Amino acid sequence: MSKAHRGTGIRNEVNHGRGKCARCGKENIKILYEKEIDGATVKVCKYCNAALKNIARVEARKAKPAEASSDAPAEAQA
Ligand SMILES: [Zn+2]
Repeated sequence: MSKAHRGTGIRNEVNHGRGKCARCGKENIKILYEKEIDGATVKVCKYCNAALKNIARVEARKAKPAEASSDAPAEAQA
């Protein structure tokens, strides 16, 4: 298996995966990650991919702060 975001893995992509990032607007950067922003699926660079992942992680944590305590010992019997 080739690496999905490097070398042979991106040889078949248009312009070898390079283009304009939909989020930061950087040009001639490798845009290898599909992300959904405001309902539309766009391609973003690895930096924006990481940034969006961080935002999603923080918001997921905010959404359900009590989730961590649901690992109650009651479910431990199996
Ligand atoms: Zn970007």
